[in-house]
Amino acid sequence: MAKWINDLSTYQICKESAMKVIKTVLVTGSSSGIGYGIAKVLLQNGYQVVLHGIEPHSQVTSLVNDLSEQGKVLGYYSVDIGNPKAIEQFCSDLKTANITIDILVNNAGIQHVAPIQEFPVQKWDQILAVNLSSAFHFMQHLLPYMQTQKWGRVINISSCHGLVASANKSAYVASKHGIVGLTKVAALENAKQGITCNAICPGWVLTPLVEAQIEKLAAEQGISIELARSNLLLEKQPSGSFAKPEEIGEFVLFLCKPEAAQINGASLTMDGGWTAQ
Ligand code: NAD
Repeated sequence: MAKWINDLSTYQICKESAMKVIKTVLVTGSSSGIGYGIAKVLLQNGYQVVLHGIEPHSQVTSLVNDLSEQGKVLGYYSVDIGNPKAIEQFCSDLKTANITIDILVNNAGIQHVAPIQEFPVQKWDQILAVNLSSAFHFMQHLLPYMQTQKWGRVINISSCHGLVASANKSAYVASKHGIVGLTKVAALENAKQGITCNAICPGWVLTPLVEAQIEKLAAEQGISIELARSNLLLEKQPSGSFAKPEEIGEFVLFLCKPEAAQINGASLTMDGGWTAQ
């Protein structure tokens, strides 16, 4: 940044950075479901996107090719974000590749459904690590660059389960409530630095994560997949329909815009009325 910019107010510097033409986004868990939808919408709108998932590259080649047709993909990284050392290495690899992240979307997440007394301890630890701690680790590594340039966006994909609970989802609900709290702290710490941090709280979105729950429900209750799907929706989501991954993508897109600069520390629902009840 030119030296004269040092003499401008923070507000002017923020404005300058906001005008930087092409922004780079990391979307964790973009090899599937909601993350894929977010990456697609951002690519279509001129953002450069770093793709990520747990699957090896060979397993997602066609998906990466499809997304590359939508815009500028800066690579696919297969990293287990349940491991803080792997996150550190990933962020260092990005630096080595001269990739600086302007927008971080902490999206990757997992689920396990069981009552507390039967909940496997290893599953509890894994869900907390992937759904919550990973967001802390990514922020620790990637916020300093955003702070230097006085512009950044952190968007955490929480859930309506970040605001209300459902039985049998102890680890998931704890991790999603945790990320709502972490979002508020990051928002406060960076509020004067041109950086916002918000959580999106979707209700049901039809993705592999939810398909697995529908299949489990159908098997447990001895009912068809179609009936299990409609029961699942009707139980919690007043709209009676699923949100689409691309709709979450459009929400993320808006939060990246200069017009969203004053939305900060918020938990924004997109749940067909689930949490209005
Ligand atoms: P999904 O199963 O379709 O995709 C999960 C993604 O996370 C994949 O890209 C996978 O590679 C990645 N991932 C999983 N474990 C990982 C690990 N250890 N290391 C690295 N990456 C890993 O799930 P989805 O439904 O698209 O969910 C995405 C996010 O949205 C999650 O945080 C989920 O909790 C949240 N969410 C989903 C719904 C829904 O109804 N689908 C609702 C609310 C919130």
